[in-house]
Amino acid sequence: MSYFFDLFWPTLCIQCQEPISSKKILCAPCLSELTTINPLSRCPRCFSDEIDNVGKICSSCSEKKPTVDYVASVFDYLGPAKKLVHELKYHDRPYLAKSLGSYLFLQFLELQWPEPDYIISVPQSFSRFLDRGYNQSELLAKEVSKLLQKPYVKMLKKTEVSISQAKLTLKERQKLQAHSFSVLQPELVQDKVILLIDDVYTTGTTLECCAKSLQEYHPHRLYALTLCRS
Ligand SMILES: [Zn+2]
Ligand SMILES: [Zn+2]
Repeated sequence: MSYFFDLFWPTLCIQCQEPISSKKILCAPCLSELTTINPLSRCPRCFSDEIDNVGKICSSCSEKKPTVDYVASVFDYLGPAKKLVHELKYHDRPYLAKSLGSYLFLQFLELQWPEPDYIISVPQSFSRFLDRGYNQSELLAKEVSKLLQKPYVKMLKKTEVSISQAKLTLKERQKLQAHSFSVLQPELVQDKVILLIDDVYTTGTTLECCAKSLQEYHPHRLYALTLCRS
């Protein structure tokens, strides 16, 4: 049956559009391009590639303690990894979170980070949620939660624009919105090891802003793992 189905409606590789077996997402050559970052090649705190020696923190981290205690990613933001995130985010393919969540889990093991008390995700604005119908970071975090057998907690909320802010220009409002998160369950933060999940690390500002909101309630450690790093 599936043979006939494949014959008439072949599944295509997400990256190169070649026909593939219906159970797959990428063809073999594209899958082989999907290589995870070796954590040893990066700064153990901020995951920057500007390190002099394996295992040593970078100069920026030695000058100033980062707001998120430890940051890491699974893939560089290019090739099939970039395509997969793009499909998950913009092309209504929430089911991709399952496979991508396994990669986050494997990288977590590779990093040898301590087990978190719980897992949280970077929230998105309500309007974006309505557009998309799901929050890709939350889907990824829930997959990691299942695999790690640690609870997922809805901890952060993106602050919506209030009437008093309506006077600001669009640009000012967007900037303010992008950077404001409120903590929904502050009583759960103190002395806890928290793992924050997001899809893409670009400048690190989003993670830093999430961390700043959480740091007010004194967590023991904050770890952040993203699928891609651009
Ligand atoms: Zn391919
Ligand atoms: Zn560093």
